[in-house]
Amino acid sequence: MLAALALLAISLLATMLNPITLSWSLLWLSLAALSTLAFIELHHFRSIKRAYQMAMLAAHDGFWEWNPVTKELKVGHRLLEILGYHDDFLKDTHAWLRIVHPDDRDTYNHAVSTHLKGETPHFYCEYRVLASDGRYRWIASRGLAVRNHKGVAYQMVGSVTDVTAKRHYQEEMEFLAQHDNLTGLPNRLLLAQDMGFALERAHQRQTRIAVMFLDLDRFKNINDSLGHRAGDQLLQLVTQRLKSLLPTGARLYRQGGDEFIVLIDSNAGPELALSVASAVREGIGHPFSGERGELFTSVSIGISIYPDDAQDGGTLLQHADTAMYEAKAAGGNAIRLHHSSMDIRVNRRHQVEAGLRRALAENQLSLYYQPQTDTRDGRLLGMEALIRWHDGTQQIPPDHFIPVAEESGLILPIGEWVIEAACRQIATWRQAGHNAPPVAINLSPRQFWRAGLAQHILDALTLHALPPECLKVEVTESVLLHAEAGALGELQQLRNAGIAIALDDFGTGYSSLAYLQRLPVSTLKIDRAFIRDMTDETGRNANLTMVGAIITMAHGLGLEVVAEGVETETQRTLLAARQCDLIQGYLVSKPLPADDFAHQFLVDRQAQG
Ligand code: C2E
Ligand code: CA
Ligand code: CA
Repeated sequence: MLAALALLAISLLATMLNPITLSWSLLWLSLAALSTLAFIELHHFRSIKRAYQMAMLAAHDGFWEWNPVTKELKVGHRLLEILGYHDDFLKDTHAWLRIVHPDDRDTYNHAVSTHLKGETPHFYCEYRVLASDGRYRWIASRGLAVRNHKGVAYQMVGSVTDVTAKRHYQEEMEFLAQHDNLTGLPNRLLLAQDMGFALERAHQRQTRIAVMFLDLDRFKNINDSLGHRAGDQLLQLVTQRLKSLLPTGARLYRQGGDEFIVLIDSNAGPELALSVASAVREGIGHPFSGERGELFTSVSIGISIYPDDAQDGGTLLQHADTAMYEAKAAGGNAIRLHHSSMDIRVNRRHQVEAGLRRALAENQLSLYYQPQTDTRDGRLLGMEALIRWHDGTQQIPPDHFIPVAEESGLILPIGEWVIEAACRQIATWRQAGHNAPPVAINLSPRQFWRAGLAQHILDALTLHALPPECLKVEVTESVLLHAEAGALGELQQLRNAGIAIALDDFGTGYSSLAYLQRLPVSTLKIDRAFIRDMTDETGRNANLTMVGAIITMAHGLGLEVVAEGVETETQRTLLAARQCDLIQGYLVSKPLPADDFAHQFLVDRQAQG
């Protein structure tokens, strides 16, 4: 008791000495003492009250005093000043509540009543109050109840601080944290929040939600070839167009990079989602007018539906992402609805990807070589290097892992490994005195997305002191499919340096003469599907005519022709009759490890040579 009174005396003294800076903290001390000494006598209470009335006058904060029984309210001049009201304006709780923002009334009442009931150690609430200028101001109000010996509050005192500026700053920071500053779209943080609300509502109302995952096709390519400025601009233009394409009620977010998310929570099932997606896909396909000319892009869209595909936001997004991947794998510019079978494929893809990383690190890759021979006399004229992956005991075929490597970007280090391994092998053979014909390596379209591929190949040749004629590259028509100006340039550079280019898998893709004329190719490889179906039992098959026509046409363009997948002598004879230059296939040999290949084909050749 004595200690408490001493404390009060000190606080009073200090309040008078330095009212502005000390008043608030000391007032708290006074109030704390006041409330612990619930049995304090009235005259003591009066003296303390005088103390904070003085503090009220002096301090920067606005003080108030409220009687929970009579509802009488007294506010200090500073609080009136903050709000711009006159002395007598805020006489009681009712007057005060009238100016509290309707949205904040519940929070405010709750904070007051829990403290009055003794459930909180002190009262604290940040809320909006209407000022005399008609605008709301944010105030932070704190206070403490004074209780009688039964613990019943008969007095409440406290202070308010104007926190409007702080709140606006906070709101601005929050906005910035939740929006992407390039496009102004809400970002993934806000998406997570909105998704939570949407799921709650959909759960209550038993309605559906559609989540659409949008990813621009080959956006990285635009960034790489036209620069980041053009890339940024395209993202902004795409954002604008997406906004105009989406129906009301659909919300658009930027997930990051060139990924966008659309949330439709108006009980959207697959039909609605698909129709929105087709409109988007169609709309994005039209050219955009950029600063430096027209920009083109397309979009791959994956869709998942709540509750059909998943119950929670994270899984819904993941499923939409999976479906988007399937759309990409189908060549892009496509739409896919999530299906559980996709998850199995995704898992497999993840496994293959992880395994491939290990394969690269642990040297589990090797090159096999398959001979290409003269169709008539069987002379060795070339060979193709084909990648092999030995994962412990099993061998994984390239058709299983090359597509995964392409999707994941691993094809870049793998492609570099192939270039290096092939050059090293050629050099080894040359050093051993083998007169090896050109070795063809396969290049994936993805390797052309990055500038510098041709230079990289030329550097590898230089490193191993090899002439350009000892290497050949095989590409498919798809390198030119997406109007990749870069790819054509890289090929031209290789051709100019003396490296021959073969067009692989001819007949499966577009097989367009226009492409052939645009590409600086010297060799055409007829896909093995054509060779396989060249003859049926009756010996009459359209493919045979087709193969003949391709050979004639290719020769007309000055190209050499290789038939792939030649397995029988009949096929060889038919091809020879149609002047096909070279054959490659099991008839001559399967792809072989380097040593076996040398043994079977190079040593003999040397002996003949
Ligand atoms: P491709 O370039 O069309 O390679 C020819 C494929 O046909 C090879 O399959 C080869 O083993 C197979 N083949 C050869 N002769 C015959 C035959 O008489 N009958 C049959 N049924 N098949 C025959 P492989 O080695 O499994 O390669 C598959 C594909 O993987 C290749 O098709 C190529 O697209 C890709 N690939 C292989 N190595 C590489 C590489 O180093 N880099 C890249 N980017 N792709 C590669
Ligand atoms: Ca090939
Ligand atoms: Ca091929």
